[in-house]
Amino acid sequence: HHPTLQPLLDIYPPSLSSPNHIRHHRTSELFAQTMEEFEPLLPNVHVAFGRLVDKPGPNWLRMVCISDTHNKTDANNYHIPEADVLVHAGDFTKMGTTAQIDQFIDWLKSLTQIPIKIVVAGNHDVVLDKEFYEQHWHRFHTTKEDHQVAVDKLKAAGHGIIYLNNEGYIVNGAQLLHEKNQEQKNRSSSGIMTQHMDTTGGDAMDIDVSSTVDPREGWVEGYRIWASPWQPEFWEWAFNEVRGKLKDIWKHIPEDTDILMTHGPPKYHGDIVPHDKNLHVGCEELLERLKVVRPLYHVFGHIHEGYGVSKIEWDEEDRSTVCINASTCTVNYKPLNPPIIVDLPPK
Ligand code: 5GP
Ligand code: MN
Ligand code: MN
Ligand code: MN
Repeated sequence: HHPTLQPLLDIYPPSLSSPNHIRHHRTSELFAQTMEEFEPLLPNVHVAFGRLVDKPGPNWLRMVCISDTHNKTDANNYHIPEADVLVHAGDFTKMGTTAQIDQFIDWLKSLTQIPIKIVVAGNHDVVLDKEFYEQHWHRFHTTKEDHQVAVDKLKAAGHGIIYLNNEGYIVNGAQLLHEKNQEQKNRSSSGIMTQHMDTTGGDAMDIDVSSTVDPREGWVEGYRIWASPWQPEFWEWAFNEVRGKLKDIWKHIPEDTDILMTHGPPKYHGDIVPHDKNLHVGCEELLERLKVVRPLYHVFGHIHEGYGVSKIEWDEEDRSTVCINASTCTVNYKPLNPPIIVDLPPK
C-alpha cells in the first residue's frame, strides 16, 4: 500500500464525539490499507494512487479533488489523473503574491487532461482578499501588489479555469464538451502552426473537432457547485472571520448545492489538529448550514492533517454528504497526499 496513507489511520481518536443524529464513518475506516477494503465503503470515491479504475460509464463525471498545493506541485512531482473536472479548495500559493498565482495558473494550464478546473482561494492567497490586503499587505509582501490584477489573472486565465469567490457554477455536459473542444483546438492548432509554418504563414486554422468528444447525453441539469474561501480566524490571515460569526457567509450557500467547496472544514470532519490537543477546529456554523443544504459532497482543505474522507448519513433515508479533506500538502507542506477522485453519474 501507499506509504503516505499511513498517517490517516491515526487521525481520528476512537472517542470521536459528534451530534447524535450524524452517523460517522471514521477516516480510518474509509482509508483502509488496501483498495479492496476501501472501495466497498464508498464505491465512487477513490484515492489516486497506483492504477485507477475506469469510470463506471462514459457519461459519468470524474472529479479530481485537491487543495493546499501551496506552489509545491508541478507535473514532475505530483500526478493528476485524467478527469472531467478538477476542484481545488484553496491555499494554492505560499504567500499569495501575484507571481505565485501566475505559477499556479501555469500549472493548471499544463493539466490538459482535465477540461474544467474550479478554484477557490484560501487564507494564504492574501492578494485575493481585497479588504484584508489593503490593511495587511505589508505583513506579507515587501511591495504592495494590485488586488484587481491578481483577480483578473485568475478570471481571464482561460483553459477551463474558473475562479469562484462566494459564488456558484454549474457543470453540465455542454460545458464539458465546449471546454474539451477548446482544449483540443488549442492542441491541434498549435500543432498545425508548427507543421505549416512556412506555407501558411502561421495562421491557426479553425478545426471542427465536434466529432472527437462524446456528446454526454442526459447532462441537462448539471452539478451545482458553490465555493467560498472563508474560514474561522487563525492568526489573522486572508478570508478570516471571527469564530461564531460565519453564519452570514454560509447563509448564501444555495440549498440546491450538489458540491460545496470551502477552504476550511466543517466541525468534526477532517478538522482535527493533532499538535493542538487534537482539537476539532472546523467551523461549527458551517456544519449547521451543512445540515440544511445536505450537499452530495463537501470538498475542503486547510487543516492539512485532516486529509481523508468521512461520510455523514443524514436521518433522511438515502441521504448523505461525503466530506472530503483534499489537502495535498502535509502539515510540513510536502505535496504527498494523492488527489481524491469522485465519480458522479450523469445528471
Ligand atoms: P495553513 O497555514 O496552510 O492555512 O494551515 C496549515 C496548518 O495550520 C494546518 O494544517 C493546521 O495545523 C494549522 N491550523 C490552521 N488553522 C487552524 C486553526 O484554526 N486552529 C489550529 N489549532 N490550527 C490551525
Ligand atoms: Mn494550507
Ligand atoms: Mn440540498
Ligand atoms: Mn489554509
